[in-house]
Amino acid sequence: MTEQVAKTYFSKELLSWYRLQKRDLPWRKNRDPYRIWVSEIMLQQTRVDTVIPYYHTFMSKFPTVRSLAEAPEEEVLKCWEGLGYYSRARNLQAGARMVVEKYDGIIPDDKMAVSGLKGVGPYTSGAIMSIAFNRPEPAVDGNVMRVLSRYFCLEEDIAKPATRVGIEKLAVTLIPEGAAGDFNQALMELGALVCTPKSPSCLPCPVMEHCEARHTGRELELPIKTKAKAPRKEFRSAVIVLGKGENEGKILVRQRPATGLLAQMWELPHLQVPDDKSQWFSDSALKEQGELAEMLSHMVEGDTGLLIRPRNWLMDADHIFSHIVWKMRVYVTDLGEESVEDIRKLAAVSSEDLPMLAAESNEEYEVREVANTNSDVLTYRWISKEDMEQLPFPNLFLKILQYYWN
Ligand code: SF4
Repeated sequence: MTEQVAKTYFSKELLSWYRLQKRDLPWRKNRDPYRIWVSEIMLQQTRVDTVIPYYHTFMSKFPTVRSLAEAPEEEVLKCWEGLGYYSRARNLQAGARMVVEKYDGIIPDDKMAVSGLKGVGPYTSGAIMSIAFNRPEPAVDGNVMRVLSRYFCLEEDIAKPATRVGIEKLAVTLIPEGAAGDFNQALMELGALVCTPKSPSCLPCPVMEHCEARHTGRELELPIKTKAKAPRKEFRSAVIVLGKGENEGKILVRQRPATGLLAQMWELPHLQVPDDKSQWFSDSALKEQGELAEMLSHMVEGDTGLLIRPRNWLMDADHIFSHIVWKMRVYVTDLGEESVEDIRKLAAVSSEDLPMLAAESNEEYEVREVANTNSDVLTYRWISKEDMEQLPFPNLFLKILQYYWN
């Protein structure tokens, strides 16, 4: 069989299969490029089942490019809360603002323009151009590389950029005339449902007859992919600081700096523990946490002037990023008696001699900006359970707060 025959067979069978079997997904209701763009960004690193409810909420809140561009960032992040990889949401909004400023709110039918939008890489631009505008552009992600590596028995390492470029060139030659959108979605669908990473369902596969990996029994060997490094562990400890007096029932939280990991999300005050103290995180060390409690007290006092007394361990929790795992140990703490009342008395005597304490003595200390050792600005505030519903938190902190409050 010639390569051309194998290609023609693949394209024809795959397209027919997709048109009969495709899943009814909310972003497939029409070809609005904005809807497709949002769905493709949400689907990066995230399963379809997880994305669907987020997609509905997001589209009802921000139904147009303009509504997304004009929304406060905090609202967009709140809508994304739980999906992870929050830079996706920020980039999506930055891209929407570009569309409003440069293209009057209309996503252009132009590959260069779409590729230039913030957060839009070769895969996403290919998906938007093919699905929304039916342009013969490849949309090659991990699923597509796996399917094509198996069908054509390609032995190049798919972790290498050059391999992706080669597969994109191959994918273009497979697109049937006038059917780019359906064909690219068919490829993604086959990779997601049939030609899966660990257990490809070759028997019902629509292209099995000419699949080289299947014929040679190599479907589980392919694609070749060099392993990524295991994520680095970071040991961290957080505190739930319970408010007193007018802040009774509230918890102290802070907002992360405007740039960097989880930028501008809210979190519990926490610190990174030096690697050589990782033994503090073993179960048997739970009762001997004096040094850790002291570090936490110093951090909160240094940042806010509040004195805290760690009371008891609440839970351990992990947060997995692509390159780091946070191993988080969480304590509940009381506020020291002197931290509110005594500061007020001191401030009343001489606020000039005690500028920092004086600052703590008025209501301002509830919402205050402090600089940490990296000169990044952190904003602290007290929140109630209702406030938690309004502010964007990374999943880890949201779960801890929900656990505590429920
Ligand atoms: S026959 Fe098997 S290995 Fe080949 S494309 Fe289909 S599911 Fe994948």
